[in-house]
Parts: sequence; C-alpha cells; structure tokens
Amino acid sequence: MEKLARKQVQALTPYLSARRIGGSGDVWLNANESPFDNTYTLEASRLNRYSECQPPQLIEAYASYAGVAPQQVLTSRGADEGIELLIRAFCEPGEDAILYCPPTYGMYAISAETIGVERKTVPLTDEWQLNLESIEPNLDAVKLVFVCSPNNPTGNLINREDIVSLLEMTKDKAIVVMDEAYIDFCPEASTVDLLSQYPNLAILRTMSKAFALAGLRCGFTLANEELIQVLLKVIAPYPVPVPVADIASAALSKEGLVRAMTQISTLNDNRAFLQTELQAIPDVTVFAGFGNYLLVRFSDGDALFKAAWDAGIILRNSPIKDCVRISIGSREECEKTLNFIKQQLAQFAA
Ligand SMILES: *Cc1c(COP(=O)(O)O)cnc(C)c1O
Repeated sequence: MEKLARKQVQALTPYLSARRIGGSGDVWLNANESPFDNTYTLEASRLNRYSECQPPQLIEAYASYAGVAPQQVLTSRGADEGIELLIRAFCEPGEDAILYCPPTYGMYAISAETIGVERKTVPLTDEWQLNLESIEPNLDAVKLVFVCSPNNPTGNLINREDIVSLLEMTKDKAIVVMDEAYIDFCPEASTVDLLSQYPNLAILRTMSKAFALAGLRCGFTLANEELIQVLLKVIAPYPVPVPVADIASAALSKEGLVRAMTQISTLNDNRAFLQTELQAIPDVTVFAGFGNYLLVRFSDGDALFKAAWDAGIILRNSPIKDCVRISIGSREECEKTLNFIKQQLAQFAA
C-alpha cells in the first residue's frame, strides 16, 4: 500500500516524538511536560452537537491572558496544528519555501515536507542567535520564517533587536512566525507587543507546557485580524472538541491562572536549582535556559543519556554534540536526576 502514498509521504520520516521513542522508567524528563497533574471536572453534555469552530469563551479567555483582541486569536489542536495551518495557507507547494534556523524545533521541517514545501535552513550563530546576514540573501520564495524563542532545544532567547530587524527585512514579503511555546516561563520576552506594528508577525502559543495540558491538544496563533482570517479559511470546520474548549477555558479562568502562575514560578525555581547544582560538577556545562528545560553538555552525552535511560530516567538526546536536554520536573525528580548524574560521572571517571 505504501506505493499508493504520495511520493513526498513515502520519503517522509515521521517526527520522532519523545512519546514515539518510548522508554520505561519512573522519571520522565524528555518531552518538556509539566510534572503537575491538575484535575478538572467535565460536564460532558451537549456532545450530540458539533463544537464551535472557534469557541468564543476560549478565544476571549486567551486574548485576555495574552493582552490582545479576540480577533487576533486563533485556536487549534496544539501549536503544531498552527504550524501546519500557516504553511498550508501561505506556501504554494513546489513554489514557495519556509526558512528556519537549526538547531531548533523539528516540526517546521516535517510539516513543510508533508505538504511539499521547500525548506531553507540558515543555522543559528555560535551564540545560537539569528544570522541575519545569511538570512537576507536566502529569502527568495520564502513565505514563512520560523523563529523559536525560548529556542527548543537550546533554551536561549533570541535577541529582540534581531527579531525586529527580521520583521523589517521581511516586510511585505514574508511572515515571521515566533514560536513562543515556552514564553509563559519568561513572559517579559514575548513579542506580542510588536503585533500592532508588524502585520507580518504571527505568534504560536500552547497550553501544553506551562499550563500542564500536553494531553489536551490546545494551542493558539496570535496575529493581526487579516492574517487570522486567512488561517480560518484552511482550518477544519470543528477543530476544537467541546471538552477541550471547556478544560482550556477553566485553565485560563482567574483561579486557573493563579494556579498556573504558582506552578510556573515553582518550575523556574527548580530550573535554577538544577542549573546551579549541575554547574558545580566538573566537566559539565549548563546553558542558560528560559523554558522548562535545560540543555546540558557532558564529556560523553550519549553515554550519559543511555545510562540514565537504563536507570529509568528518561531524558532527551539532542542533535548538538554531547548535549542532553533535561525537562524540569518536580523538585524530587530534579534531585533524583542530579544524584544519578553525579554518581554516574564519578563512575565514568573511576
Ligand atoms: C512543544 C512545542 C510545540 C508544540 O506544542 P503543542 O501545542 O503541544 O502542539 C511547538 N513548538 C515548540 C518549540 C515546542 O517545544
């Protein structure tokens, strides 16, 4: 049957999500999930009726949280669907291209490839910042430029003045898509205030990380109304199931937001703890991280990753040599991981 599939699809290697890679253990720090398992009550009624394409209560709640107008918000099945909608709406397969800057999130490439849209890459600089001089001559046919900040997997923020330069450079030519999946951990770094100045800016957000709802599948695209209207042309008629809208709205209610802010501050504290403790270990480099994860370099990253895996501590290996990405879990999970790393490195050294 595979031969019947489109050539693009035959050639495709699916995204190796943390969930697909699997593993077994009791410390899961490989998918940047939240350790907080919040409970919700569901009404589970009126399920005989279709959901609204863009449930107004949810849109209004997120608009208010993000500080934008409801007309500037689109909700979708996770930020991942937002990525796909943008490519489908703005890129002509076989003609247009997207541009992104590795090392970064893998789904921009996969969605473009699935849709048959060319991918151009301009690697980040040695400081993991935008290489604007190399981006500029590579913008031919580019309709979307994806920029992830805090960047996954490196954890750093992209310089604001470079984002502004990129928005100027691409004015009337391409859309800059800021992937702010982790911005709730450092809201002061958001580019949301630039929306009023730049009609070519789109921002991706998600409930999966800071709001502890990865399993819910709920994300948002923020942009000016005209851009949102284009996306509404290509979105499925009923993208948001009724229970998803209800739970996401509860998470964004006054009480929900208070809880989220407390959990975010706990995770930021845990990150600072893990960072300080790891840094004190010889031959370990911890890169400054602004999301709920840290990128850590060991003298032999693969060996450390595998040893942790075998011990039931599931981390994420990264495309960056000897680097392992560690999600920030509960304090107990952080301590367990830290102690394991200390023990293991002492053992390697012996
Ligand atoms: C997790 C993640 C997403 C996807 O979020 P979902 O809303 O769960 O689809 C998008 N971008 C980045 C950088 C991520 O790490």
